[in-house]
Amino acid sequence: MSGAPAPQAATAAAIAAQVRSGALKAVDVVEQHLARIDAREGEIHAFNLVMADQARAAAAAIDARVAAGEQVGPLAGVPIALKDNMCTRGVPTTCSSKILDGWRPPYDATVVTKLAEAGAIVIGKTNLDEFAMGSSTENSGFGPTRNPHDTSRVPGGSSGGSAAAVAAGFSAVSLGSDTGGSIRQPAALCGVVGVKPTYGYVSRYGLIAFASSLDQIGPFATTVEDAALVLDAIGGHDAHDSTSIPESHPSLVDVLDRGVEGLRVGRITDLPEGADPDVVERLEAAFDALRAAGATIVDVEVPAFGYALTAYYLIAPAEASSNLARFDGVRFGLRVDSPDTNSMYSATRAAGFGEEVKRRIMLGTYALSAGYYDAYYGRALKVRKLIHDDFARAYQSADVLLTPTSPTVAFPFGAKGDNPLAMYLCDLYTIPTNLAGHPGMSVPFGTGADGLPVGVQILAGTLDEPTMFRVGAALERAAASEGSRP
Ligand code: GLN
Repeated sequence: MSGAPAPQAATAAAIAAQVRSGALKAVDVVEQHLARIDAREGEIHAFNLVMADQARAAAAAIDARVAAGEQVGPLAGVPIALKDNMCTRGVPTTCSSKILDGWRPPYDATVVTKLAEAGAIVIGKTNLDEFAMGSSTENSGFGPTRNPHDTSRVPGGSSGGSAAAVAAGFSAVSLGSDTGGSIRQPAALCGVVGVKPTYGYVSRYGLIAFASSLDQIGPFATTVEDAALVLDAIGGHDAHDSTSIPESHPSLVDVLDRGVEGLRVGRITDLPEGADPDVVERLEAAFDALRAAGATIVDVEVPAFGYALTAYYLIAPAEASSNLARFDGVRFGLRVDSPDTNSMYSATRAAGFGEEVKRRIMLGTYALSAGYYDAYYGRALKVRKLIHDDFARAYQSADVLLTPTSPTVAFPFGAKGDNPLAMYLCDLYTIPTNLAGHPGMSVPFGTGADGLPVGVQILAGTLDEPTMFRVGAALERAAASEGSRP
């Protein structure tokens, strides 16, 4: 390998097939990806930690098992990057926050265990907006990640490191978490596929909580097939997560070539405005492509869609203010010593949390406080119910809904830095589906302003990942024949 130029990144499906057959060594796959990391990580900063030694050892173990004729799993030898809010036993897990400085989890998240069983190789832990709060990765306590398509721009967030790692070829696939758009929006901005499954599809055990009723783990990939492969590997019931769905999920890889003939694709006629013209143009092209592939386009209304952002910014901070109470200098990470316990709590939290996290804790504490609970948190929950019911009605006449993923292409660093509301609006189109608990995915569909990637969002009803993936695969085929993949 040494001295050889890094070859074009292969898909997870291709890597796993060749590693299983013995045509390719997992150790060589890992070296290729480490070489790409060496070449560009200094500029991109996708990772909080590159786990080169562990990845090499895991790859050697896979190769030994192949040589011994053992079954090595559907992701054999596939390098995967994990958002750094997923617990990895003995390996620092920071949430890109100074408050978790020095903490090493004593256990693996369920997704990490499942990936190991599938033969995947964790290559590193990726950067994020602190505690997954943000849309640009600029809120990381360790400095931002840069967009591989244009390093003067953000990769999106909060899973910006995971999106950039896949876009730069540092890992074949990666995992992110999506509470209000944090997988789909960075996927769109980095020109990769990103999936938020139905709430409960993937175990949250070992995912450090932001807003527990909204958080879901999902994959980033360069192809819809790779995203399906990863989701097939990490999905399913887990007794460690009481919100995990008990039924087993059908294989998504199996549905990809079924086409969209006869499917009803919904256009939301009362979708809030705010998307740039280049993004709207790509959405229209996506409707055209699906119509040409045999789908019917139908008009639907989701009247409460436009209230989602407001409801989310009460519900998510409320849950975060409670979840983050555990970071108090006693059990995890940073402790700023002080003369008494109360001043130790406040000195630790003042030093350990960044500005956006503090803003969310204050917003959430206020929304939950006696006297304001009914007016804010209680009303937001009622709006959440309306959103759920509106979507349920829309899915009676449409199998999937299509919207922009992000209102804009990747924006320059600092463009929204001093305006929290402008940043919050990045998730205008992604947040509603988190409140409903439904699945959503972003598929790259050509380019917009300045030649930067645009993603189209596909939404589906509860547990209708199979239909969503069929549509995703059809859009991907259309983009490839248009020659418009970024
Ligand atoms: N950008 C949104 C927020 O800051 C969503 C984040 C996420 O999905 N984790 O809350």
